[in-house]
Amino acid sequence: MTEADAGATPIRPLVAGNWKMNGLKAALSEALAVDEALAEAGAGVAADVMICPPATMVMVLAELSGMGGLKVGGQDCHINAAGAHTGDVAAEMLADAGASAVIVGHSERRADHGETDRIVHQKVLAAHRAGLTAIVCVGETIGQRQAGLTLDVVARQLAGSIPDNVTAETVVVAYEPVWAIGTGLTPRPEDVAEVHLMIRERLCARFGAEGAGMRILYGGSVKPSNAVELMGIANVNGALVGGASLSAKDFLGIIEAYRD
Ligand code: PEP
Repeated sequence: MTEADAGATPIRPLVAGNWKMNGLKAALSEALAVDEALAEAGAGVAADVMICPPATMVMVLAELSGMGGLKVGGQDCHINAAGAHTGDVAAEMLADAGASAVIVGHSERRADHGETDRIVHQKVLAAHRAGLTAIVCVGETIGQRQAGLTLDVVARQLAGSIPDNVTAETVVVAYEPVWAIGTGLTPRPEDVAEVHLMIRERLCARFGAEGAGMRILYGGSVKPSNAVELMGIANVNGALVGGASLSAKDFLGIIEAYRD
């Protein structure tokens, strides 16, 4: 457990792997190896662990895993529960397939699909309608950081993307500087601390005790070699991991940061 600085609320961290558009059947063995390692470690891992595979693999992973408590999530959902939206996946479908959460507002969705805060807000509502926790991603581009706009941009995304009346159970925030995703670059620890503190303050101001207990993940080039340092920063309550979550060895190396 870590303590939220603003409220001394015990927070159980979450380490979530985002497989993005990677993962054929053969990759299942990596996810199952994570679940097996969690089963062996038992209470020795003081964090929740989740993998968000492509939608094609949510059901099979949810059915085959769970022995070690591995949770399964989706990577995106449509705002509607059903309808004429070829190629899209509803939050209800993810829940039906065994997911307990869904990532929304990832910067790749914002960039590739023009997703605005307003759309992300609707996706959070869709996730909640289906009983899923929404993992809401926010983060600045390199241009915005260099222009000194990081805190403004992240605060605006936070306000616009998260609806009212959410709880620490129903929303997880993931701070992911766009320039750190998949690049091997990470912000300085003091920069991560500054953004996470601002997020915590905004969440507390808006949601009170629920905001104090909400998980704020850091994402962007988290690896076994930097996990302990990044996870040790105040108000960092876990990680959203892209590339390194594709390998059980690397993902477990990150989870090691939460070994008792
Ligand atoms: C991500 O895309 O959510 C991410 C954090 O990617 P990576 O860990 O590969 O930087």
